[in-house]
Amino acid sequence: MKVHEFQGRELLADAGVPVPAGAVVESIEEAASAYKSVTSESDTKLAVVKAQVHAGGRGKAGFVKLVRSAEEATEAARFMLSHRMVSPQTPPDGLEVTKLLIAAGVDIAKEYYLAITTDRATRRNVLIASAEGGVEIEKVAEENPDAIVKELIHPLMGLQPHQARRVAFKLGFTGKQVGQAVKIMLALSNAYQRLDCSLAEINPLIVTPKNDAHPDGQVLAIDAKFNFDDNAMFRQKKVAEMFDASEENPMELRATRFGLNYIALDGSIGCLVNGAGLAMATMDIIKHHGGDPANFLDVGGSATEEAVTEAFRIILSDKAVKGVLVNIFGGIMRCDVIAQAIVNAAKEVGFEVPLVVRLEGTNVEEGRHILEKAKSDIPTMQAATDLGDAAKKVCAAVG
Ligand code: GDP
Ligand code: MN
Repeated sequence: MKVHEFQGRELLADAGVPVPAGAVVESIEEAASAYKSVTSESDTKLAVVKAQVHAGGRGKAGFVKLVRSAEEATEAARFMLSHRMVSPQTPPDGLEVTKLLIAAGVDIAKEYYLAITTDRATRRNVLIASAEGGVEIEKVAEENPDAIVKELIHPLMGLQPHQARRVAFKLGFTGKQVGQAVKIMLALSNAYQRLDCSLAEINPLIVTPKNDAHPDGQVLAIDAKFNFDDNAMFRQKKVAEMFDASEENPMELRATRFGLNYIALDGSIGCLVNGAGLAMATMDIIKHHGGDPANFLDVGGSATEEAVTEAFRIILSDKAVKGVLVNIFGGIMRCDVIAQAIVNAAKEVGFEVPLVVRLEGTNVEEGRHILEKAKSDIPTMQAATDLGDAAKKVCAAVG
């Protein structure tokens, strides 16, 4: 699960990471007063207007704007709320922007990158940091891997202060910045663990220019990106409440309600499979025969007839679907449940596209019998003998 930057900033502030004040607005009219409230105590009157969408690359896309007056804030809000944001991290037609964060702006002396994620190879959480912050970290990793510093985190002891200090020195922090950076790293690592995160990223972490009040500058977080482990949401009530359904793919959302594992893809062959491994194999074999899957769908072992019928509704509501492949190896899932769901979907929605069905395993005879009886109602249906045959047939039918 993902949350918006303004929610991530709240979590950072709770954890003790210094974050400039901000206000969320959902209309152009609110922008001026939000600007005034976040700059009321600032000499520079600088603020930043930022689109709140579940995608990065906002800065380059023009959806992070520095403003110096209520009028400029209003103009920036007008632009962002009336244009879709397109970045390398959004779908090609972009994302609608309905919420903006208006935050107190800060002067930046230098930008850093700081994140915690899980490293599968070492089975440890890992702190990743770089003095080349602000830009995409993938680019830094590719072009200048030496500029990235990593520290593995012990699962029981957590990030140790000496590790954080080592990172701070490697990044080039000096004087009082070191203590501030160390405190932020430890706070981020604690939050990562406590909140069941899969990613906690501050890009950029910044240092403000030196001045009389802060002779070494201040270390602050001015962006926040958090991803969470969905399986932990039952014990993360506060995070779960941050869920924003409007940012999710509507079909994936429907599937989740029925306990289906559905991921939309951009091909033309809809797949309905039981078991994640078989679903992956099915997608591979479709590719092998020259087709392209329109989705990943694992109906699991315990899905009811209603849930499987819903799965067909979801697949058939996708206009890009030109053929459907059902591949069931019935273990706990019974073939007759799948067959009955096919019949339901045929009655309700109708299979106007070719349908290829491969059934094996528990109650396969009952399943075949149900389909045999309904054959005349589903003229586009073909049976397949095995997975290879099924993939070949559906790819041929789609063309
Ligand atoms: P992203 O592009 O979606 O990751 O959005 P960010 O929040 O990281 O903002 C992009 C860039 O805008 C940052 O790397 C900064 O260079 C700049 N920026 C954001 N907030 C401020 C601010 O308060 N002051 C200044 N001077 N620049 C900012
Ligand atoms: Mn950023």
